[in-house]
Amino acid sequence: MRNSPRNAGASGRGFGRGFTGNGYSCWNGPVRSHALFVDENKCIGCRECVHHAGETFAMDDVLGSAHVEVQFGDQEQKIQVAVESCPVNCIHWVMSEELAVLEFLARPQQKEAHGVFGGGWERPRDVFAAANNFTKRLQREEQQDMARQQRYNNGDACEEGETERQAEARRRAGQELRWKRLRDVWNGLRDWTKPGVDGP
Ligand code: SF4
Repeated sequence: MRNSPRNAGASGRGFGRGFTGNGYSCWNGPVRSHALFVDENKCIGCRECVHHAGETFAMDDVLGSAHVEVQFGDQEQKIQVAVESCPVNCIHWVMSEELAVLEFLARPQQKEAHGVFGGGWERPRDVFAAANNFTKRLQREEQQDMARQQRYNNGDACEEGETERQAEARRRAGQELRWKRLRDVWNGLRDWTKPGVDGP
């Protein structure tokens, strides 16, 4: 039943590597304004939620924590009982648009290894704060991409790592080169039309 990007491979590199913009849980019925999210860092794996709303929650036996498999997989009453039964209050109602980032960050991420040091897996201690920072950075990077695209569309794109001043100098040099070519063509034509000069 689950479309399972939870185990999907990473796409892209660097910041947000593997983030597709889609959440891992799927929806029973239409997408609603709010959704369920399990803070897996806090989950103690007691299975209470699965017991009360087994079409909504599922256990990950490898990680030893529960997650939402299907949003609203059970009747709301059962879901509410499951939420209230959680002994550590780690099942949260969140806004649907926050879900994809929260679910992405709740999944253990591979740590960057430096030679034989580092490596392994990690997930943020405070997934909500991490999601906040992640979303802000994502928005910033999207805005920068859009600005770069806009400059590119205007024909005055900056090269990677180029300052505005360098870009301006490069634009002027390009313009100067175009004018020089035009002048050369014009001078060639003018000489050619002079009496006694053979054509090109
Ligand atoms: S009830 Fe809470 S602590 Fe227990 S498995 Fe579900 S989410 Fe985890």
